[in-house]
Amino acid sequence: MVANLLYEGKAKRLFSTEQDGVLRVAYKDDATALNGERKESFASKGRLNNEITSRIFTYLNDAGIKSHFVEQISDTEQLVRSVEIIPLEVVVRNVIAGSLAKRLGVPEGTPTKQPIVEFYYKEDALNDPFINDAHVLYLEAATEDEIAILKASALAVNDALKEMFAKMNITLIDFKLEFGRDKDGNILLADEISPDTCRLWDRDTNAKLDKDVFRRNIGNLTAVYEEVLKRLKEVV
Ligand code: UDP
Repeated sequence: MVANLLYEGKAKRLFSTEQDGVLRVAYKDDATALNGERKESFASKGRLNNEITSRIFTYLNDAGIKSHFVEQISDTEQLVRSVEIIPLEVVVRNVIAGSLAKRLGVPEGTPTKQPIVEFYYKEDALNDPFINDAHVLYLEAATEDEIAILKASALAVNDALKEMFAKMNITLIDFKLEFGRDKDGNILLADEISPDTCRLWDRDTNAKLDKDVFRRNIGNLTAVYEEVLKRLKEVV
């Protein structure tokens, strides 16, 4: 297999393949916080996020939500369609937590009446700032039509994921999505959906089953990601 490293991010490496328009993603064992300032490695993290993301993208595909995901090819690798990543993080929130709890001065754990969709500008040098639709247009990150598609897709993903996680006795607090354009300009869900990119709370105990255990030093990251995968395997 040709293995040209195209890009290395904080949690994944991206390689070209011999197949036109298809890339190989290799998940790393690294966890980062504070925009990469804090970094630690956890055995099995790459395998867990690859497995979890592969299962979730397969589930979403069955629910009619297309993504870049093609197939899982090993413990830590998957094939994806090549897309031009839109430089936005699309965050959906069902319960107030994290940065929004701080910004609005609302206690973490307060439910929202409607899901809240937000955009953050993907730019490490600026610490991924929160931006509004006018800023998205100004930056030419997405067109008006694309903004509408991003919001509608994010809400459709939220509906599908809330239902899936409820069956796992987990509340989907919030999560981050990324989207890309294929060569025909179609917008596809991309990147990953894992406990690195979602806040997941056990419905009975409110225990955190996500990267907050690392960000806040409150538990064993591998053990909670294993727990998420175990529950996921029971439902999808
Ligand atoms: N998130 C992410 N990558 C980021 C920033 C946020 O995956 O670079 C996810 C995060 O895990 C959470 C949601 O997006 O599920 C909302 O994060 P928030 O804005 O509250 O930021 P944080 O508290 O993580 O700094």
